[in-house]
Amino acid sequence: MKIVSVDIMKLKTEGAGPVRPIICRVNTDQGIYGIGEAGVAIVTGATAAYELLKDYARVILGMNPLHHEVIWEKLYKDTFWAQGNGPIIMAAISAIDTALWDIKGKYYGAPVYELLGGKQRDRLWTYASQLQFGWGREAYDRSGALKKYEDACKAAIDQGYTAVKVNFFEQRKTGPNVNYLDATGHLSAEIMNTAEERIALVRSLLGKDGEVLLENHAMTDGVSSIQFARMAEKYRPMFLEEPATPTNHRVFEKIAANTSIPLATGERTFTRWGFRPLIESGCISIAQPDIGNCGGITECKKICDFAHLYDVGIQTHVCSSPISVAVSLQFEAALPNFVIHEHHCGNTLPGITRLGKYDYQPKDGYFEVPDLPGFGQDLSEYAIATATGETIQ
Ligand code: MG
Repeated sequence: MKIVSVDIMKLKTEGAGPVRPIICRVNTDQGIYGIGEAGVAIVTGATAAYELLKDYARVILGMNPLHHEVIWEKLYKDTFWAQGNGPIIMAAISAIDTALWDIKGKYYGAPVYELLGGKQRDRLWTYASQLQFGWGREAYDRSGALKKYEDACKAAIDQGYTAVKVNFFEQRKTGPNVNYLDATGHLSAEIMNTAEERIALVRSLLGKDGEVLLENHAMTDGVSSIQFARMAEKYRPMFLEEPATPTNHRVFEKIAANTSIPLATGERTFTRWGFRPLIESGCISIAQPDIGNCGGITECKKICDFAHLYDVGIQTHVCSSPISVAVSLQFEAALPNFVIHEHHCGNTLPGITRLGKYDYQPKDGYFEVPDLPGFGQDLSEYAIATATGETIQ
């Protein structure tokens, strides 16, 4: 089997903020194709990944798509810049690698979890993610009223979720969002009090058996995150995500030494080389690689196996199109050290879900894992009709 062409697409989304999923479809001479996504859909970077995919597509034309390790190594070692990692480069490699696993699944008539060694679990415990944007709504809600957090949490609980993740401090009660400057070095009493009021509310709504997950989006640093964590400890959070920029693991070691809350990070860390210091130093309890930007299925499995060596659990970061959701379900099902699945509020919005052929949603806080060949997902007719793109052949 040979790769004969690669379609690169920019999908159109509505009502889900600045989300621009970049998809590559790898086509073969046997009529089988695979879909992969570059995991840089949010905020900035999608355009760069789209352009780089054109270069990488030319590298893999004529190669055997079943040889995912050979192709990964060629993209990493034979394109000059890739050995420096980085989000755009690794997102482009991830998109191609993921598409190869989709092809492999279709070729062998097997779901990807089977190619990875089989399901460790029949269903995946799932949390409702990013409730600061609301839950069960038609679009992102960026208001800061306490009632919004209450409504979002109640909506998630009504759907059967037992765990929710929230950035509790980003939105002020009124006025502009808290930004990274406001969260550097110190959090004001106003920011801290507003956040605590919301955490206390969410904890009381979930009850003692629920799980509260804290999301700091690396807006805080090695000082203000400790201040925040010490305030939040009494609400027994499951973990604190991205308390600081993840590139200096010594900062994470300092935070971990100053709080009892387990730390999590990974959506802005790439390849096993990037994860190595965070895992080896023992400062994180949960690694959160994004399959769409850490190096694809091939690399993510190596990262997760390495994490397992140190008893670090896994929650893959999922924040993009329905393709990414399906990829993550297949992958996480096969992981012994899986902890919990992230279901982003964007992946419940019609502007995103309509991009997938199938609308996979959790039931009673758990995801079933599809048994269709490959990732069991494809682009919808709507997604293809509204996408812009080009073909490299
Ligand atoms: Mg996050």
